[in-house]
Amino acid sequence: MNIFYYEIAVSLPLRQCFTYKSVIKIKKGLRVSVPFGKRKVIGVVIKKINNPEILNKNGVIKSIISVLDEYSIFDSSIFNTILWASDYYHHPIGEVFHSFIPTELRKINDKCIAPLELDTNPDILVNEDDKRFNLTKDQDKAVKKLSNATGFNPSLLYGVTGSGKTEVYLQLTEKFIKEGKSVLILVPEINLTPQLLFRFESRFKGEIGLYHSKQTPLKRLKIWLKAKFGDIRIVIGTRSSVLMPIKNIGLIIIDEEHDQSFRQSEGFKFSARDVAIKRAQEEKIPIILGSATPSLQTLRLVKENKFNQVDILSRVDGRKPPKLIVMDINNTPLIGGVAIETLSAIESVIKKGEQVLIFINRRGFAPLYQCGSCGWVADCNSCDSNLVYHHSRQRLICHRCESAYAVNKSCPVCESEDFYLHGSGTERVEEVLQSSFSKTPIIRVDHDTTKKVGSIQAIIEKIHSSDSAILVGTQMLAKGHDFPKVTLSVILNADNGLVSPEINALEKLSQLLIQVSGRAGRNNNLAKVIIQTRYPEDINLNKIKTGDYMNFANQCLTTNAKLNLPPFSTICLLRCSSPTQISNNIFLERALSILSNRKEINVIGPLPSLISKSKGSYRHHLFIQTSSKPYLNKVLKYLTNEFQKWPETKKIKWSFDIDPMNIN
Ligand code: ADP
Ligand code: ZN
Ligand code: ZN
Repeated sequence: MNIFYYEIAVSLPLRQCFTYKSVIKIKKGLRVSVPFGKRKVIGVVIKKINNPEILNKNGVIKSIISVLDEYSIFDSSIFNTILWASDYYHHPIGEVFHSFIPTELRKINDKCIAPLELDTNPDILVNEDDKRFNLTKDQDKAVKKLSNATGFNPSLLYGVTGSGKTEVYLQLTEKFIKEGKSVLILVPEINLTPQLLFRFESRFKGEIGLYHSKQTPLKRLKIWLKAKFGDIRIVIGTRSSVLMPIKNIGLIIIDEEHDQSFRQSEGFKFSARDVAIKRAQEEKIPIILGSATPSLQTLRLVKENKFNQVDILSRVDGRKPPKLIVMDINNTPLIGGVAIETLSAIESVIKKGEQVLIFINRRGFAPLYQCGSCGWVADCNSCDSNLVYHHSRQRLICHRCESAYAVNKSCPVCESEDFYLHGSGTERVEEVLQSSFSKTPIIRVDHDTTKKVGSIQAIIEKIHSSDSAILVGTQMLAKGHDFPKVTLSVILNADNGLVSPEINALEKLSQLLIQVSGRAGRNNNLAKVIIQTRYPEDINLNKIKTGDYMNFANQCLTTNAKLNLPPFSTICLLRCSSPTQISNNIFLERALSILSNRKEINVIGPLPSLISKSKGSYRHHLFIQTSSKPYLNKVLKYLTNEFQKWPETKKIKWSFDIDPMNIN
């Protein structure tokens, strides 16, 4: 009797695959159940192997219990993309695999991979009655150029804010749908899905698949299966949908491609944008990366002729972009972070019945709760993080681990009952504005006001149906939305971005300022953006102020090329965390001893991470930089192997963070 051996990725957070045997031949990508210790778990067949190493070591190889499905979980394009991702990010294949499998298929239950029995005709049709705009010249050119793309063909769609990129996506999708193809549209945030879904639902008859992490596992499984078997042909999703199997996929669109939310920073650290590009290459299909503020990485690829660039430079009705005004707040009294001059600018907009958008990158009331007598500051027991005072919840909250603490009535050090609330968050700004503009609705948009399912839709509707109103919000307000009545935007604390030690702080800041300004002035030529700053002379701020993102980005590219910074080099953080600083240091020092004195790589560290303690663990890293990714790959593989032999490794948790988003 023949015995076949298989490498299996099991659904457990482990850094390796395991070998199992079976008397039957099993296709790669099929789910099987296997014994693991005393348990029975699910695994995916990665490949057949001929001479398992463990046989030579006289180890025991267990048998596969059963094959669970008739269909494999992914086709070879996605399979290859997963292998690539595991290799590129140096992350264990089993974990990479399982992070793209719906949770319901990672456990043993009655679910299996098979077409759903549907009682309705699921076919999608173009709704010819939906109102089409007369495309602007640029939109028309973009649609024509992008429609001609065949095979693997990546394009940057550079469309300034308000240039009508969504209409271009709709018309391209229409074309692919009519040709019998399916389309995947990736958006950075769940909050951006309702408006896009609405536009697609008006343009198409039939089900559009929405896929994101706020849905129940069962709902997600249903959409996943429908897409896999061709019952859904348009999928709109966040980064977790990047490797969703979609029958006959013909096009991938990434909206707001520059957005940091495409990057997953916990567990398997990957960029959904980069994985999507690899997928398009494997599927041999076009991919469109849309943005008004393209990432430096994408711009570099355009310059190297690896990507096409298609421009939409005019706004849909020829409106001029808003004017950016730098406001020096050094000698101005601030009320809850808002300058007096800003308040009067807000007042004149409100009087005209228009709306104001205030951006502040911090939720809660005040970021610092301090004793007025001895200077003690409330901080988290488990994290290196000050507690933020939340007025509505009457709690001090750690934004790192979300622990909520009772508000101290007296100081734990000196017993004083005199406390200061330093700085401002969205709640405080809301309160200040409410007292200045008592008759105007103040609409707060942050993590706290949008937690409930559907709340963001209600808020967006309220914004659209109100006349004069003041919107106060964090990042989520700055992205992608279209607020036609906003004619003034205010950025309260741009300075964090100017003085940040982060790797790509300027790229992020310029994107943020241009994106916030893009929310404003959609129906009026007189829109303004006020940037409050203590560094009014800052050279970069003054360049961004011109509103010419591409010019600024090109200058950043030139500088980064000179300094050999990304995207002209690769950065990898070897991250390490444990309950003691010393364990981290011993481990990282040993890694350093292997890495130092290699001329192809630069290593700095061990260093404490910017957030040096989180959820009870100390965090350190080695900062590794190289111009040769192939060389780095070799070294990281070697290191991974070494780590498994070291006693030091048992005391810590480590991971590689390739192309890290931050050094937090
Ligand atoms: P972007 O994503 O490029 O910032 P949107 O796609 O949100 O811009 O479009 C901005 C607004 O312009 C939307 O309300 C959209 O319905 C409208 N719009 C799009 N194309 C046209 C057009 N050709 N003529 C008039 N309005 C348009
Ligand atoms: Zn005190
Ligand atoms: Zn904490």
